[in-house]
Amino acid sequence: MAMTPQTETPPPPYLGRSVRIVGPVSNVDMNQTPHPRNSRGELGKALFNWYRNTISRDPLTRVSAPNHFADQRNFLAALVNQAPKGKVNHQRVALSDPAAMTRHIKAVAHHMGADVVTVARAHPSFLYAASAPPKDSAARDVYQNRSGDVYQGRTPEQMAEQYPYIIVATTAWDYDKLQAHRHYIGDAAYHVSQMKAQMILKALEGYIKELGYSALRGMSNPQAAGLASGVGELGRNGLLIHRKFGARIHMPDPIMTDLPLVPDQPVDNGVEDFCKICRKCAINCPTNSVPFGDKVVFNGVESTRSTGSRATRSGPTSTRTGEAASPARPSARSPSRTSGGGASPCGRSARAPSPRAPCSCER
Ligand code: SF4
Repeated sequence: MAMTPQTETPPPPYLGRSVRIVGPVSNVDMNQTPHPRNSRGELGKALFNWYRNTISRDPLTRVSAPNHFADQRNFLAALVNQAPKGKVNHQRVALSDPAAMTRHIKAVAHHMGADVVTVARAHPSFLYAASAPPKDSAARDVYQNRSGDVYQGRTPEQMAEQYPYIIVATTAWDYDKLQAHRHYIGDAAYHVSQMKAQMILKALEGYIKELGYSALRGMSNPQAAGLASGVGELGRNGLLIHRKFGARIHMPDPIMTDLPLVPDQPVDNGVEDFCKICRKCAINCPTNSVPFGDKVVFNGVESTRSTGSRATRSGPTSTRTGEAASPARPSARSPSRTSGGGASPCGRSARAPSPRAPCSCER
């Protein structure tokens, strides 16, 4: 396969106040992130069997949550995501006004059901490493969208240059149903919004291809694209926090495209300041997964939640070199802990979730 020439790495992108890129970032191999590793049984039998071999007692969970169905054909997201990828229409629509197209594509995504639609400028540090996904379907998760040929010998720099925009189109979890967290009803708020997001993204991907432009998924870290495009700021809980929906927003695979668009900018919605003093999520987290301390640097990224974010938690497999330092979590909880009431920007209540199942943060 012919290799294209190297492209210079652009300067680090601005991601707002909550996250900064401060050093070299190694592109993370998607195949080494938790879901694919669990699918291969690398995280232990208990987690493998819970995730892969457990049929839910709840029929709504069976049709909306990955891998808990009695028959996979009843799980719509699997059918949507494992459908063959469509081709790009060779009759490309001529575009002279990227701002008008940006407004249009956002209007289309909202019409299709998205609650939040933003556009990020692509950056090599946002992309997953260029390894092909495993061929066997058993090792692939049902909501992965990777096709094995998208990099085609190109580097992340070349990919970001060729497909300069990332469309983040996603859905919010239903507020009232989420109050039942962690009951099946609360879980359905998460899973149904995930299912809706998959269908919207698949439809939007097809729409862009019908316009004659490329639309790639499974390429970009959703949180990085969400930060760069102003979906929200990263909270202490490791989730993007939106001005209206709080932390109730899904961050599925965004769409990388060469459709001419105008990127949005990061936002300051107060999360950066509020999380410094709030810490309700750290106090209540049943698995002590949320840090109390200040920001740390991991894989070139400075954030409160650096060691736990999807982009970095499984460790890098490099297409570039970078420092990786895993900071120690404080062994004791802060003496100034408090569980006072009141609203936090992420919508977190002070009530501790039941420890009977993993928290929604850890899915
Ligand atoms: S509970 Fe408080 S500290 Fe945690 S993410 Fe929400 S606002 Fe930030």
